[in-house]
Amino acid sequence: MRLEDDTVIVTGGGSGIGAAIAEKCAEEGAMVVVADIDTDAGEGTVRDVESSGGRGTFRELDVRDGDAFEDLVDRVSATFGLDVVVNNAGVGQSPTSVEETDPDTFEAILDVNLRGVWNGCIGAIPVLKAQQSGAIVNIASLAGMIGSPGQAAYSLSKGGVLNLTRAIAAEVGSHGIRANAVCPGVVDTQLVRDDFGGGDNDWEDVRSRMAEHYPLGRLGQPADVANCVAFLASDEAAFVTGHGLVVDGGYSCS
Ligand code: NAD
Repeated sequence: MRLEDDTVIVTGGGSGIGAAIAEKCAEEGAMVVVADIDTDAGEGTVRDVESSGGRGTFRELDVRDGDAFEDLVDRVSATFGLDVVVNNAGVGQSPTSVEETDPDTFEAILDVNLRGVWNGCIGAIPVLKAQQSGAIVNIASLAGMIGSPGQAAYSLSKGGVLNLTRAIAAEVGSHGIRANAVCPGVVDTQLVRDDFGGGDNDWEDVRSRMAEHYPLGRLGQPADVANCVAFLASDEAAFVTGHGLVVDGGYSCS
């Protein structure tokens, strides 16, 4: 198993991609700490992990709170050890033109998607440095690599995550710490259904129209991302750092 006896914190592990990451990491032998602002959802993921024979525990966390994140890292490290932090928690943006994006929306997106990842990295690095080992996997987005119309604030946040990951990789590699990002195309989760479905938009129609732009003929599934995270978190990726792994069914090559 790729993550045997490792401890992995997964933020936003209560649903969608984060839940799939938690389940995959547990399947690969890790003790998974599901950290989410949504207690019911996070506890649900832990129940799923345990019912599949894995090990998991839930911790309530708002990633925007740097002190709380640091406290979580310290407690997890003292109780279970700490090998991997997956900074996955994020929020989307309903399509809005750049000039109509209101300041509150801008702040809210940057606060979770960028500050939240920053908090996770700076919370974990002292612990990982002290042990001279560890891996950070940040969930960025294809929207952080290419311009995405109607998604300027989201694109900004995810471009920031990608370059933060590179900067950290360059800075802490000499301490045995790797930092990588995953850049998914559209993945069928609640976040996407909320942003692009709803109202007059029937999700099934939207999904099939979106899928036409994907050479592999479908949108991503949470497990597509989770499999890549498990690889980047594991020793199989021992010489991979500062990388942004595109997981987009070929969208960006067409
Ligand atoms: P989701 O809405 O299904 O899940 C997000 C999770 O994050 C939820 O459990 C939510 O409670 C949690 N969360 C939100 N704010 C939080 C906070 N402040 N503190 C702690 N937890 C918080 O979304 P998803 O689609 O699974 O997205 C997961 C990540 O993947 C996000 O960073 C998103 O930007 C990124 N991503 C998603 C897609 C996609 O198409 N779904 C594509 C590229 C990147």
